[in-house]
Order: sequence, then structure tokens, then C-alpha cells
Amino acid sequence: MKLPFNSLQIKNSLLDTLFPIYCLGCSVKGEILCRDCTQKIRLAERETDRNILAMFDYRDPLIKKVIWELKYHHKRYLGGKLGQLLYEFFMEDISEMKIDVSGRSIFVIPVPISNKKTKIRGYNQALTIAKGFCHPAPAGIFELKDKIIIKKIETLPQARITNRQQRLKNVRGIFEIKNGDIVKGRTIIIIDDVTTTGGTISEIIKILKKSGAKSVVGFAVAH
Ligand SMILES: [Zn+2]
Repeated sequence: MKLPFNSLQIKNSLLDTLFPIYCLGCSVKGEILCRDCTQKIRLAERETDRNILAMFDYRDPLIKKVIWELKYHHKRYLGGKLGQLLYEFFMEDISEMKIDVSGRSIFVIPVPISNKKTKIRGYNQALTIAKGFCHPAPAGIFELKDKIIIKKIETLPQARITNRQQRLKNVRGIFEIKNGDIVKGRTIIIIDDVTTTGGTISEIIKILKKSGAKSVVGFAVAH
């Protein structure tokens, strides 16, 4: 006889009762971002760069809210959800990359934040997204590498700078690569929450390429 519930379901329903979660879009109980609301988020239409792709349009109020909650209200679990959506959204691009790497793993690098900021926030939001992105993939496809690129200089948030040239200047030389040898010949995906002009991701692409990376693309949740 099959029991109607297994222990995991019982545990989950107990957690739901103790700590109910509600959709940030429509307040329905049980999910942080329900399927209906997710499907209504406006998709990004503007391409920043050939190598940088974004999923959602940052002007959509719901995605703005989700990212805000992730970054400033300690809802780190939202990163997991966004990462999962990012994986599903870019599935085709990932499949093409898989052919290209012929059996080797693809490195996944979250855009780093400074140590100071990590201390204040408690986590790097791009890392939570990157973890959520790697999680649904079959084993061996991705390798999360969050200690290769380091942010050595604190900068003004890119969103606060309106001039494009200033934005590009703002990120120049702020990252550093550690153990650069391991990226040689590798295919790499950079993960970020929001990309504005693509300046931050471009800067990291430049560094990785300089160290011999074969191909590097950036996936951002919103643009
Ligand atoms: Zn909803």
C-alpha cells in the first residue's frame, strides 16, 4: 500500500504551516513567485552586448521588487528561484555551449561584490542566483567558481551613474583574478542580478579572456 504522504511532504507541509510564504506578485500562499506572476513579467528586449543576455526587463515593477527584496531585505532564497528561472530561460544557449565544451564542465562565476558589502548584506546576491542556476542542471554540467574573480575596489553602484562613459570607467580595474590558470581554455558563464550597460560583466569577460578563457557569456536576471 502506498501512503498518501512521504516524510518529505510532511516536513514541507509542516514548514509551510509554521513559516507560510506568499507570492511577491499576487500574495497567493505557498510560493515566493508563482507561475502566473512569473509568466507576466516583461521580458528583456534590449540586447546589451552580443555576449551578455538578460531575461527580464528591469522596468517591470515585479522583477524590480523581487531583486530589491533579494538585495536589501535579506530574502536570499529569492536568489535560488531567480537562478532556476535563469537556467530554464537560457536552456537552449546552455545546450549549445555543452556541445562546444565536449564533456568538460562549464564554469559558472557570479559577479562578486566587495568583502565590505558581503559583510553588510550577509551574502552576495549574484552567488545565490548562481547556486540556483547550477542546482537544476544534471551533475557535471556546471562547476560553480565563486573565488576566481575578486572585487578589490569598492565602487559607486552602476545604477547611480547616468553617463555611459562614466559607468564604464567606474568598473575599470576593480576586479582581480585569482588562480587565473584554471580558466585557460574553459567556457564560462558569468551570472549577475541586474546589468545596466553591461560594463561590469564586460570588464570580467575581458579579464577572463586575458587569462586564456575560450568563451565567456554573461547571463543577467534583468536589464
Ligand atoms: Zn503570484
